[in-house]
Amino acid sequence: MVVIRGATTIAKDEKEEIRRAVKELLDQIVNCNGLIRDEIMSIVFSSTSDIHSYYPAAAAREAGFVSASLFSAMEPDIEGGLPLCIRVMLFVQKDILPRHIYLREAKVLRKDLTTIYNIAIDGPAGSGKSTVAELLAKEFGILHLDTGAMYRACALKVLQAGVDVEDERAVLDILGPATIGVEFADGKQITLLDGKDVSVEIRLPHVSMAASAVSKHPSVRLHMAEKQREIAHRMSCVLDGRDIGTFVLPDADFKFFLTASPEVRARRRYDELVAKGLSVDFAELKEEIVRRDAQDAGRAVAPLKQAEDAILVDTSDMTIEEVVAFLKNKMRERI
Ligand code: C5P
Repeated sequence: MVVIRGATTIAKDEKEEIRRAVKELLDQIVNCNGLIRDEIMSIVFSSTSDIHSYYPAAAAREAGFVSASLFSAMEPDIEGGLPLCIRVMLFVQKDILPRHIYLREAKVLRKDLTTIYNIAIDGPAGSGKSTVAELLAKEFGILHLDTGAMYRACALKVLQAGVDVEDERAVLDILGPATIGVEFADGKQITLLDGKDVSVEIRLPHVSMAASAVSKHPSVRLHMAEKQREIAHRMSCVLDGRDIGTFVLPDADFKFFLTASPEVRARRRYDELVAKGLSVDFAELKEEIVRRDAQDAGRAVAPLKQAEDAILVDTSDMTIEEVVAFLKNKMRERI
């Protein structure tokens, strides 16, 4: 058994804020430690005495931590202590080296554990970015943010509304009131559209093409890039996309640009979709990928482009394991 520690702070003593903070903290602990929820035996919270509005344990239960036993206690007041702070201990049935998580103002409690770094992986469709990003994130115990999924969720909303994806004004009217969100549960990104999990639906080929069209509208890009920066500034993560190294995080600690021949990329996407149980035509898929890359590379704002300081990796003849090993080596050279 191992014990994993964590802490976070809330902005104000309100039930909703406590629920949000507890969910965020537990999801990150689960994700960064590669846990599945059934492995958590018990969760013990303590909170500072300025928190009265809700029990963190109740918030954990509501966030889906239902199989663990839960307990909350109040801490004594300590002169100079961090205000509005929630601490947690998870007792876990697993033999791992624990990664403790300190978020928001609570980072000051453990400066040794909270250095934030970001890895940007850009490239065209099917170059292997997502798979590589996922493996690296798992290995380093940090988050993987799939930024393409956010544009795909935007596209799905626009398609559902029956609006022309090329019409920026109409697209904005639809996306304005919509909520696009990402959550991280059990090590996986869940993409939410108006609170509904659309992670599988957004992978359909017609959504890919629409995502490329919707993402060329500057207002959509600026909004999504802001959300992505907000996540990246709060925690270490691997981000995969088209413009991470050039536009979203020009100061990312590590930047890679992956490519592969169109044939290889189409084959990878085809295999991926078939494995997900979706039926697709290879020739159509290849054609779509080529058209999409041209559209992504040709747009005016934040096009698909290698950042000057990114390392180029042609993955056509490499296995995923080889690509991951190559990236890790390059990072090691610089650490
Ligand atoms: O990576 P994925 O194929 O899921 O991305 C779908 C589409 O979203 C891309 O073709 C691209 O037009 C857009 N996108 C983008 N910027 C990103 C990520 C994706 O414009 N950072």
